[in-house]
Amino acid sequence: MIASLHEVLLVAKHSNRAVAGLVCLGWEDMRAYVRAAEIENLPVILQAGPSCRRHTPLTVLGPMMRHLAEQASVPVVVHLDHGESIEVCRQAIDAGFSSVMYDGSRLCLAENIETTHSVVNLAHQYGISVEGEIGFVGYAAGEMSAMTDPVEAATFATETRIDAMAVSVGNVHLQVDTETTLDEQVINRIQELTDTPLVIHGGSGVSRTQRARLAATSNICKYNIGTELRTFFGSELREVLVNAPELFDRIKILEQVESRMVEAARSVLRSLSND
Ligand SMILES: [Zn+2]
Repeated sequence: MIASLHEVLLVAKHSNRAVAGLVCLGWEDMRAYVRAAEIENLPVILQAGPSCRRHTPLTVLGPMMRHLAEQASVPVVVHLDHGESIEVCRQAIDAGFSSVMYDGSRLCLAENIETTHSVVNLAHQYGISVEGEIGFVGYAAGEMSAMTDPVEAATFATETRIDAMAVSVGNVHLQVDTETTLDEQVINRIQELTDTPLVIHGGSGVSRTQRARLAATSNICKYNIGTELRTFFGSELREVLVNAPELFDRIKILEQVESRMVEAARSVLRSLSND
């Protein structure tokens, strides 16, 4: 069933767990993630980020993801990740997304508040949730992070009325190891000032122990996981091709990888609680 981000995060917050925002690049991985969520009987967030949108138009992605969500036995959020403008958020809403992230983290606080608030006004008319970002989550071997200031975070949450807030608390995008440690003092300080559900981008870099503990004990309700599953996909695809050189049909090749992706995604979904 299709769900908004607001709905699934509220349930997660009250049940001491977090929901996985899984980065999707194509039909096989989104289908594998929904299957994994159904087997685990957990909600899942399918995310279309910038590289996914460069490969496949939003007008195609929206109906693909929505179709999977509507057929699913568990809540599935169809989420735009890192929307770079109000216009892209509007296109995602028109294409059937149930949730959008507007990323104004490169703007100054006042501009970030103003633009994010405009997206909230637009999206909430249609019952669509909005995630915003305050502070800046950097990229491995790329742009440096800027830690979230707790006072700014509280102002941002109140003035924009966002449903979820991405914060920079030690997390970094595109990490291939799990050596990131989230700064729990900053997280505590943020949640003393605002009760808006928090989102950790770059979740792949956070150890499973810390992921699960903070999912259970803090306001972190969503971890974005991309790299962990993308590296798994790449290595499994390579193994299938090396072990079966006679395969040439794209569907036959990906069928073998997809079943392995289901198992990997189940393990990620299970990593976000202490159960
Ligand atoms: Zn991100």
